[in-house]
Amino acid sequence: MTGAPLTPPRLRDDCFAMPQGVDWVPVQDALSRLRAALHPVTGAETVPTHAARGRVLADDAIATRSNPPRPNSAVDGYGFAHAATGVGVMRLPLVQGRAAAGQPFDGAVASGEAVRILTGAILPDGVDTVVLEEDCATGAGHVAFDGPIRPRANTRKAGEDVAEGQLALPAGHRLRAPDLALLSALGLGQVTVFRPLRVGVLSTGDEIIAEPGAPALPHQIWDANRPMLLALASGWDYAPVDLGHVNDDPAAIAARLDAGARDCDVVLTSGGASAGDEDHVSALLRARGTLSAWRIALKPGRPLALATWNGVPVFGLPGNPVAALVCALIFARPALSLLAGAGWVAPQGFAAPAAFSKRKKPGRREYLRARLNNAGHAEVFASEGSGRISGLSWATGLVELPDGAADITPGTPVRFIPYEAFGLR
Ligand code: AMP
Ligand code: MG
Repeated sequence: MTGAPLTPPRLRDDCFAMPQGVDWVPVQDALSRLRAALHPVTGAETVPTHAARGRVLADDAIATRSNPPRPNSAVDGYGFAHAATGVGVMRLPLVQGRAAAGQPFDGAVASGEAVRILTGAILPDGVDTVVLEEDCATGAGHVAFDGPIRPRANTRKAGEDVAEGQLALPAGHRLRAPDLALLSALGLGQVTVFRPLRVGVLSTGDEIIAEPGAPALPHQIWDANRPMLLALASGWDYAPVDLGHVNDDPAAIAARLDAGARDCDVVLTSGGASAGDEDHVSALLRARGTLSAWRIALKPGRPLALATWNGVPVFGLPGNPVAALVCALIFARPALSLLAGAGWVAPQGFAAPAAFSKRKKPGRREYLRARLNNAGHAEVFASEGSGRISGLSWATGLVELPDGAADITPGTPVRFIPYEAFGLR
């Protein structure tokens, strides 16, 4: 991508609309609908490779030179032409000089001669095979070893890692530390990446005190969701934008959403997202934005309010911190990844034997705060009460119980998804 950064179009206003008559949506359907509704929304920019960790490639990274660029030695030893060797003890005269990494041998090695060679050194002309120094004796200007040696032993072919013109990393790949090694090894000093997704976070509720340092009356509680959601966004390598807290006042919420739509690519709100009297976020989005209240068959989590506000997607998360986290991990994370250009992501869980008992009715998928005990069995937090924020910290992941009925007893395999698999850190 060259020239002025391109900014893709904003979302269509009706992108989150559910078909008429749809009531409860299974989690999987909700995810599929979300995936279909979204597209990348950030433009691209060029950044130095060393500063690109966490960024998402907007273009394929193509090798402009092979790695290694020339055949070289994989060990310290002695190099020679394989054709001149055979079975039994070989005694080859050593040429003057040596080949070392960064200090190529000047000249050619004649067939039947050998040269001292060190790891990483380009194979001199005439050398195609290297014998390990531990397998040699040297003296009187000669090297001796036991043949046969396999042709091209202990050498690396040009381009055996990555060949010139080959795809090194595809567009949409989020760069991690080893990827910076690969790009740098290929001499790619800068990369074209998507601009970081700006994620606005807004808390709502008359009872909420925005800052934990501030005094709170007994009917007031400190805002737990905003720091959590901002930290999630930065942990996912997005640019968090603190939109603060507003009371349950439609005008104030609208003003803050205006600011969010101006300064952010996506907004996460928490609180007031349900359909009750005090659910001001969903009321406002219904009146002024384009709201689709998705009744997702999920526990914990009430309807997830999905809307656009001036073309910017708004995720109305539940106020309850446990439900807010679960909805953020299950729905917002893959959606944000798609918006950011990195494509849809699904967390990788694994089966672990349950360390608990639970009989589950059909109809809703459930996520339980869980961790693995020393035996590698999944134990769940003592209380399923969704107000128990301490359980989120106690846990190291979630157990996902299927939509259908389940009768779990100790030893039953359950799906454990570590926090790390959600990119949570
Ligand atoms: P709501 O979704 O607004 O009905 O809120 C559900 C529950 O979550 C209520 O008990 C709220 O007080 C609580 N809650 C809402 N927002 C937050 C927040 N930012 N931090 C902690 N608790 C909250
Ligand atoms: Mg509320």
